[in-house]
Amino acid sequence: MQLKTIETVSVVHQIKCDRCGSMAERGGFDFHRMTSIGFNAGYDSIFGDGNRVDLDLCEPCLRDTLGTWLRVTHAQTSLDAQLASFRPEVHGGEFPSNE
Ligand SMILES: [Zn+2]
Repeated sequence: MQLKTIETVSVVHQIKCDRCGSMAERGGFDFHRMTSIGFNAGYDSIFGDGNRVDLDLCEPCLRDTLGTWLRVTHAQTSLDAQLASFRPEVHGGEFPSNE
């Protein structure tokens, strides 16, 4: 038996690009195109010991600032590679049959 309750959950409603200022709203077309980078700086980091570092960028700003170093993998190639590496004897299980 499961007893359920309703809780309030915090979600990101809007993201503003830190470079160009463009806004993306949850549920909007551009929302999933925003990239958020965040980490806690480690010991002796150039950002300061334990400091928090965050950045939100839209796609054009991501490309314009970090594009040289981004490793972009073609989605279809990746899917093909994944399907090619599928071996039923290793990854399979029981499959439904028509019987
Ligand atoms: Zn931007």
